[in-house]
Amino acid sequence: MKKTGALFIVCGPSGVGKGTVCKELLRVKPEVKLSISATTRERRKGEIEGVNYYFIGKSNFQDMIKSGGFLEYAEVYNNLYGTPKKYVLEQLDMGYDIILEIDPQGAMQIKEKFPKGIFIFLLPPSMKELRNRIISRGRDDEDNIEKRLNCAYKEIDFIKEYDYYIINDDLSNAVNSLVSIIEAEGCRVKGNVDELIKMYKEEV
Ligand code: 5GP
Repeated sequence: MKKTGALFIVCGPSGVGKGTVCKELLRVKPEVKLSISATTRERRKGEIEGVNYYFIGKSNFQDMIKSGGFLEYAEVYNNLYGTPKKYVLEQLDMGYDIILEIDPQGAMQIKEKFPKGIFIFLLPPSMKELRNRIISRGRDDEDNIEKRLNCAYKEIDFIKEYDYYIINDDLSNAVNSLVSIIEAEGCRVKGNVDELIKMYKEEV
């Protein structure tokens, strides 16, 4: 049965552990694809071009916007981030499930274009723990920590826009929940009715 892949959008406040959860998901479920975003932000130590991000300049980013190369893009903490369109559409067409790990502004743009996308919001066990995680990453000064936490409070108000939530209290629990969501979505009747009927009727 030819199936189109499903688009999973993983969102959540800065510091909640989206990157870690998605990375671990790819290890346990390597058939799932992860979209690599383009960004204008500086490469951090240890990050690899084409693995973590495509690090591009502002003018290249603007060119890609103009040529319609992004499925969505947004400014997040003074840097631009965008999802390159071509790879995502190709993978979906080939039947692969694909994950976008993006911010909520981008997620809402995807919702307009792909209402069938599956929107997942990753939550911290508590705001106190979120603060601890942001501090322990050691990337932000006091001012930025407050900015990220304020932003998190606002983002949580939009939880109703999402289909699922996962509380990231323990990495393997969070990954198991994500795997369960992906697998359950793969068994949906809705969206596959014609294909299913065709498959079994053709057999007779
Ligand atoms: P970081 O710079 O810490 O890797 O990511 C900062 C934020 O940008 C995170 O919330 C991350 O989810 C978001 N982000 C990463 N890639 C994209 C993208 O392609 N589009 C949007 N809208 N947000 C992104």
